[in-house]
Amino acid sequence: MREVVVATRNRHKVKEIRKILGDLKVKVSSLEGFGKIPEVVEDKKTFEENASKKARIISKFTHRLTIADDSGLEVDALGGKPGVRSARFAGKEQDYIKNNKKLLKALEGIPSRNRRARFVCAISIAKDGKVLGVVNGACAGKISFEMKGKTGFGYDPVFVSPRYGKTFAELGPKIKNRISHRYRALKKAKGAIKRFLDN
Ligand code: IMP
Repeated sequence: MREVVVATRNRHKVKEIRKILGDLKVKVSSLEGFGKIPEVVEDKKTFEENASKKARIISKFTHRLTIADDSGLEVDALGGKPGVRSARFAGKEQDYIKNNKKLLKALEGIPSRNRRARFVCAISIAKDGKVLGVVNGACAGKISFEMKGKTGFGYDPVFVSPRYGKTFAELGPKIKNRISHRYRALKKAKGAIKRFLDN
């Protein structure tokens, strides 16, 4: 079976990407089983650059078509922050609860109309150290006043979809994976992934 590797250690992302690419009929592998793969430092200024850095470096080790996701949350009232620093907003380690609490605190006293935000995702496709393409997806919403819901990861408990009036963590994976930034980026990437696997 044709195979594409997802260059991330984030099991939530792998799960979502597997679901979204389900109709491609390709094996979507994680990095498990590929031996020693270096940790890639995400030190670039844009999601595209970080995704491409990850895809380029990791594809040298997988020897397979490799896709990397770099994503995050941009909040208008914070001038686009946390942006590319979304994973480390409240400190070095990726602590979702701490990040959400810091975000809610930063927005204290700000009314609903000024809590606009968007999730952004860049997907880069690479093979043997060469980037073959990069696509983007975004999803607009608002930051809630408290954490709500149990599913998903990251900022899902505070990100409200205007269409449903619920947080991504309340909506669950089925709906999230039909409207998310990751879904929108991967929808654009699907054709290219298919072509690259066929050649
Ligand atoms: P990175 O792409 O590994 O640098 O990390 C992205 C960070 O952005 C995650 O740790 C989350 O905090 C946040 N993020 C990205 N996508 C999502 C999502 O679908 N839901 C909630 N948070 C997300």
